[in-house]
Amino acid sequence: MEIKNARFLMSNSDVQKCPEPTKPEFAFIGRSNVGKSSLINMLTGQKKLAKTSSRPGKTQLINHFLINEAWYLVDLPGYGYAKVSKKSKEKFQAYIVDYVLKRENLYCLFVLVDSRLELQKIDLEFINWLGEKEVPFALIFTKADKLGANKLGKNISDYKDQLLEYWAELPPIFVSSAEDGTGKEDI
Ligand code: GDP
Repeated sequence: MEIKNARFLMSNSDVQKCPEPTKPEFAFIGRSNVGKSSLINMLTGQKKLAKTSSRPGKTQLINHFLINEAWYLVDLPGYGYAKVSKKSKEKFQAYIVDYVLKRENLYCLFVLVDSRLELQKIDLEFINWLGEKEVPFALIFTKADKLGANKLGKNISDYKDQLLEYWAELPPIFVSSAEDGTGKEDI
């Protein structure tokens, strides 16, 4: 698909105040610094649409973008820097939980994970929570350019094996690089 037009609509922390759910919506989430802003910019072909920064934990709002006047792309806050509480689901800000569970036009939530790292506890908790709540989601392995093909393949295969210890089925899996454009068409 060609993205001809991408523009920022609004930021807020309340699902009730998001745009009317009249268009399909695709959202992106992941641990801070996973490369979410870079990926959104790569996908939309706009260098500064989502803010990129090497300082973790900056995006703290639900950011809506309108693509081709036809669907919404949503940049969700990075997780992993919230205060740790005993119940895992409370690690994710209440408004993210609300958004994910209540946004009726959410077609797919893309969960970004760094392809260099093994399965992180917080990602596993989030993925397991999505599975329990039957939220449609897909995984994107980011920063693929930082690894050779063999190492990348092994990391993804190990990751899948670990998920299969919890789930009988795997979500759709994509590989991306904001550096060289890998994954642009597929995603
Ligand atoms: P966010 O916090 O998830 O939005 O992450 P950013 O998009 O701001 O990226 C965090 C850091 O990783 C920045 O220094 C980016 O330049 C770098 N980065 C992001 N994506 C890629 C990628 O695909 N390849 C490489 N080599 N670096 C990346």
